[in-house]
Amino acid sequence: MKKAGKTIGFVPTMGYLHEGHLSLVRHSKKKCDVTVVSIFVNPTQFSPSEDFNGYPRDLERDSKILESEGVDFLYLPSKEEIYHQNFQTYVNVEFVTKSLEGEFRPTHFRGVTTIVLILFNCVQPDFAFFGQKDAQQLAVIKQMVKDLKLRVEIVTCPIVRERDGLAMSSRNVYLSTTERKDATVLYKSLQTAKNLISSGERKVSFILSEMDDLYSSISSAQIDYIKIVEACTFEIVDELMVDKEYFVLVACRIGKTRLIDNIIISA
Ligand code: AMP
Repeated sequence: MKKAGKTIGFVPTMGYLHEGHLSLVRHSKKKCDVTVVSIFVNPTQFSPSEDFNGYPRDLERDSKILESEGVDFLYLPSKEEIYHQNFQTYVNVEFVTKSLEGEFRPTHFRGVTTIVLILFNCVQPDFAFFGQKDAQQLAVIKQMVKDLKLRVEIVTCPIVRERDGLAMSSRNVYLSTTERKDATVLYKSLQTAKNLISSGERKVSFILSEMDDLYSSISSAQIDYIKIVEACTFEIVDELMVDKEYFVLVACRIGKTRLIDNIIISA
């Protein structure tokens, strides 16, 4: 297809598809001649204490959905095909992987960049589509593409949310009915930050403490981090500067389910 001059769009996923994934598929279908979706629950991005074995999987349902979306190819590599017996090469992006998710999941991004590079090499896409939902992952992948001079353009797609604001995630199925209600605190706290900033607040410590307050009444919630970073560099900031873009990011466990969310704002 490449030889025939067709553009290849690629959407890497871990499956158990929802509207967030499908929005990436639709972006690819719109932009590219051919769309390839991969489903691979990548063991190297989970630590031994995380949910690799329990991660939700439903290949039959996913295949049907992708077929009805008009996806051209579904790539389903096996664990053995990707990580053969003598596998020993990993990709490590340095600074942008250190804070936030990298602090709480120290081996996570090494697994992500390694699998994404392998998948890029196998699929050889012109464009690859990623969700803003995983903002730091996107920054890490963009850094890898730039540093290793990969011939792929990364396309960022906005976060798709449930009606009450909860960012769609395959992990939302883990939530009990009460936890599902509690989980709306993430989006509410991001909205609080947005409102404070648009009314002129520039002091990050104040914004974060106002956000933090919302979590105190929710017994199932345990915050891993709430931070504001500079959008381009992902550097954590204390003070907001006018006309600059920032991400407000939150990672929080609701019961046993770890959720992340973010919004982009300009001060
Ligand atoms: P995952 O299957 O969780 O590895 O996600 C595959 C891709 O879908 C990643 O690029 C995610 O950022 C993206 N994604 C997941 N949830 C959402 C969402 N709610 N909105 C937009 N993109 C999403």
